[in-house]
Amino acid sequence: MSLTPPTPVFAPTPDPLTPDRDITHAHFRAGDTVVVLKGVAGGELWGDAMRVITPSWHTPTDENGWRLRDATGGAQSYITAHPRYLVHLSRRCPDCLIHLRAMEDRLLPKHTGDNTLIDCGWYTTTALNQLVHIADVRGGR
Ligand SMILES: [Zn+2]
Repeated sequence: MSLTPPTPVFAPTPDPLTPDRDITHAHFRAGDTVVVLKGVAGGELWGDAMRVITPSWHTPTDENGWRLRDATGGAQSYITAHPRYLVHLSRRCPDCLIHLRAMEDRLLPKHTGDNTLIDCGWYTTTALNQLVHIADVRGGR
């Protein structure tokens, strides 16, 4: 038995849903627990769970974002993300559930089968610890 988390297999997969998601900054509050979806494993979506800390400017989109703490993030424990990257874990939230279901419907059929941890390649983190979706990279899309 190994306690080392498996290394994700990188499998770039389009995500048109997150960039078009209509969610306000005020939808989230300090103290909320959220997940940033990263990919698929064993027939389910997976992502990094984080805690919302405080409002913070999201430089890649020039919009108001949220400072997050990733307890397993190591050198990048604190990152800033755009609200549309976040899905609530801490409370049953219809808005976030709708997005989660839409992501499941789109992605699970593309990655079926074994328990391989698939990283769909949507997010990178800048040198300034800003989380950025591939659709929001300057010059992208
Ligand atoms: Zn929500």
